Amino acid sequence: MSGAKPWLQHYTEEVAPTFHYPKHNLARLLIDSAHLFPNRPALYFMGKKLSYLEVLDASYRFAHTLKQLGVQPGDRVSIMLPNCPSAIVAYFGTLMMGGIVVMTNPLYVERELVHQLSDSGATVIVTLDLLFDRVQKAKAKTPIQHVIVTSIKDYLPFPKNVLYPIKMKKDGAKLDVSYGEGVYSFKKLLRAASPAPVCVDVDADDEVALLQYTGGTTGLSKGVMLTHANLIANAHQTSNWCYRLRMGEERFLGAIPCFHVFGLTVLLNQSVLGAGMLILIPKFDIDLILDTINTLKPTIFPGAPTMYIALINHKRVKQVDVSSINVCVSGSAPLPLEVQERFEALTGGRLIEGYGLTESSPVTHANPIWGFRKIGTIGIPLPDTEAKVVDASSGEEMPVGEIGELLVKGPQVMKGYWQKEQETASTIQDGWLYTGDMGRMDSDGFFSIVDRKKDLIIAGGYNIYPREIEEVLFEHPAIQEATVAGVPDEYRGETVKAFVVLKTGMSLTEKELELWCRERLAAYKVPRKVEFRQSLPKTMIGKVLRRQLLEEESKD
Ligand code: AMP
Repeated sequence: MSGAKPWLQHYTEEVAPTFHYPKHNLARLLIDSAHLFPNRPALYFMGKKLSYLEVLDASYRFAHTLKQLGVQPGDRVSIMLPNCPSAIVAYFGTLMMGGIVVMTNPLYVERELVHQLSDSGATVIVTLDLLFDRVQKAKAKTPIQHVIVTSIKDYLPFPKNVLYPIKMKKDGAKLDVSYGEGVYSFKKLLRAASPAPVCVDVDADDEVALLQYTGGTTGLSKGVMLTHANLIANAHQTSNWCYRLRMGEERFLGAIPCFHVFGLTVLLNQSVLGAGMLILIPKFDIDLILDTINTLKPTIFPGAPTMYIALINHKRVKQVDVSSINVCVSGSAPLPLEVQERFEALTGGRLIEGYGLTESSPVTHANPIWGFRKIGTIGIPLPDTEAKVVDASSGEEMPVGEIGELLVKGPQVMKGYWQKEQETASTIQDGWLYTGDMGRMDSDGFFSIVDRKKDLIIAGGYNIYPREIEEVLFEHPAIQEATVAGVPDEYRGETVKAFVVLKTGMSLTEKELELWCRERLAAYKVPRKVEFRQSLPKTMIGKVLRRQLLEEESKD
């Protein structure tokens, strides 16, 4: 079976198997769409629309601003903002002048911020007045020379229920930014800057457009170097996959953050490539999402499973017309079958599971949207992407159906880790990216992820993959969310523990849960410990933080 690519049979004419991806500055996505559709709305944010021409003009101004501050091509510019127009303008403006964007999570605490800014060597940071204190504190320990502050006041009034992912100061409280030496107002800089077109030529295969940090939950995070060509290829690969997207017509519901690579490619780059309208949501707030769907009728809604779970279980969902939603691509974590079915029944659209990782810009696999798909799998490799499953120790390709480590290859695979040659060499070998995920391929070429290599639970000598147990828990009618992890056990080395959130008004005992699992799982996989919780800790993208649960556990 070695080298077989059974997934090729599922490609259709529309999903072209070979596509020559343009090799130019990534900012050309915006420039080209603005030339074709200058007056179309590019961004929608809290009641305001910005046309392609307006976003282009502001981005040119931002590029000139950076040049005036002495930023050179190749210098790093950190963008520490939630979804808002300034984040998009700073992103394209930085690319236009040849800078490297460093997306910084606005929730980072000082220690994480210092690490990322020092490691990347960023000299400029673009942030929000609400985050200013934290940035100022970290600044002295980093190479940052210039802080550009965008004010929340520029976007007021906010609907009452919408808060940034950061705690808002009380209404009317002064957001005290001391502008002056090295601290500037985003708005004022833009007003004073030249709007002359600027877009430096780049060697797209070699020059880095984005340093995206990953792996923070397991030690210090590493910067993934994604080139202009990597990100352009993945924007084309993903939009090509949704081949019925109408140029200039689609409306993207931007609920996932653009500072995460999934949001960056599948929302921002894909929307701009197709001259769509990107509705920026600064924080995942279910009422806001429902109101937005009701009034703005988005057609595309990329998200993480937890977002779809929250939506289908919300009491208002039946009163809102959600039928505008055509395509949803779920990534970042396994999509439970029940969630997919209920969501599709509700919207009449398609919700498909895809897969990827920061190191591959991120998407490598997806289920066909309108074609043959297999629920419960991550689908097939995108065009021009190869994939195989190998034995984690010998490196030999595994037979069909057998579990091994998933390897991928394609134009979206990173250049490497920033200033980490050794890690790069062990992660990319002969062009193959070692994903660190365990999975299998079936005879039709569909892949499934069984788990992260490091999340494997070994209990009494048995290999247990948390996902299999989670699927069983999700099927229980009283369970809203659940995750499973290995906890230390005197006799078995590790044992399975389930963390469970019940649906509102439902009850379930530990005993009932055990019975449910016993009927559906081999005895050694049945959780020996259960913890009922109000919620599960999650990343901004909605991924459950297993590690945090385990840390809490070890403190008990
Ligand atoms: P990140 O680099 O933060 O985007 O995380 C990438 C990781 O998310 C992958 O290596 C997988 O472990 C996980 N992941 C992404 N998509 C899926 C999926 N559909 N099913 C299971 N795990 C996924």
